[in-house]
Amino acid sequence: MGPPKKSKKVFLFLDISKSMTIIPEYNRKENMKYCQGPKCHTYFTKDRLRGPKGNKVYQTRRRTSFYYGNGNFCSLNCQNDWFNQFGDQAIDHFGRTTQPIQLTEDNAWVKYYDYDWNGGDYRRHNFKFINKITNEERNITEQQYDDRNYTINAV
Ligand SMILES: [Zn+2]
Repeated sequence: MGPPKKSKKVFLFLDISKSMTIIPEYNRKENMKYCQGPKCHTYFTKDRLRGPKGNKVYQTRRRTSFYYGNGNFCSLNCQNDWFNQFGDQAIDHFGRTTQPIQLTEDNAWVKYYDYDWNGGDYRRHNFKFINKITNEERNITEQQYDDRNYTINAV
């Protein structure tokens, strides 16, 4: 039997390559990174306590991914610690805002829709752009509303 066996092999190959690229990647040491919180090691949790008996230390958390600060911090506390220590330096380095940033009429368009509940049925209608400065309104379709690339410039 030729053809059926061949297609099975191809499927198996794809499946293996998938698991080889995704699963080990997750646990690879080179993909681990340290929390950038300067005080991370001072929070006394069991997972931070490392080393053999008699030589234990609290140390910075290390993971393949973190949830805070663009994946750089293990907790909101650690993110805040970083900002408290380095925030001013960072702002001065990248440019402190010394004048108000302005949103002009041209850029004040936002998408809106009305909705109501009919017997537990959520219904959207009356899709439009509203200018938050001039209060001007322009009707659009539901598809245009849902299209993230559809901006007022296209109206
Ligand atoms: Zn941390």
